[in-house]
Amino acid sequence: MKLIIASNNRHKIEEIRAMLGARFECVQGQREAGLELDVDENADTLEGNARKKAEEVFAAADARGLLCPGDAVLADDSGLLVDALGGAPGVHSARYATDGHDDAANRAKLLREMDGVKDGERGAHFATAMVLLRKGCPDIEATGRVYGEIGRAELGENGFGYDSLFYYPPFKKTFAQLEPDEKNSVSHRKNALSLVLAALESEGER
Ligand code: IMP
Repeated sequence: MKLIIASNNRHKIEEIRAMLGARFECVQGQREAGLELDVDENADTLEGNARKKAEEVFAAADARGLLCPGDAVLADDSGLLVDALGGAPGVHSARYATDGHDDAANRAKLLREMDGVKDGERGAHFATAMVLLRKGCPDIEATGRVYGEIGRAELGENGFGYDSLFYYPPFKKTFAQLEPDEKNSVSHRKNALSLVLAALESEGER
């Protein structure tokens, strides 16, 4: 069975492939599957964007005859929700600082916004909404989260996005200081994927 991930973000594709590679014979990113469409992520929730991406990529893949029974399209939308900022940047995480997607500018803006926020009030979580669509089977939706704190300076070189500002207390490190496997074991995407997998497994038990 094939899984097409509705994304061209290579970090994300690798993270999902590392976690789901054992369950699908073939895991492809959108471009790798030959799908060049650009989905406008204009919904006002992470869940809305994940569904929109999944539906548009599924329709395009199906129209090209790329999907056999059991094949799936998985879309996710993730964001960082900061308590002291009322849940911002949230669904706007990718374009927090500029209309483009500039991770360094986003981190710089987050540091500025959090400048006056005291220790103990810097809680935040990453969230991932996932939608898995298959031909002739019910949809699966899940949201995974991971909780931490926003640091006062960037730490670590790994990862992407806000990783160097996201301090994870159980490991006493930022996500950017973790090896990919360590991050994959606790991340919001991992938690969302675990819920998707649990839903798939419970279907098999019925
Ligand atoms: P996306 O929906 O996965 O494309 O994520 C939207 C935004 O949230 C991007 O700007 C990412 O940088 C940020 N983001 C999502 N997941 C992560 C993560 O695991 N670490 C750091 N930033 C993330």
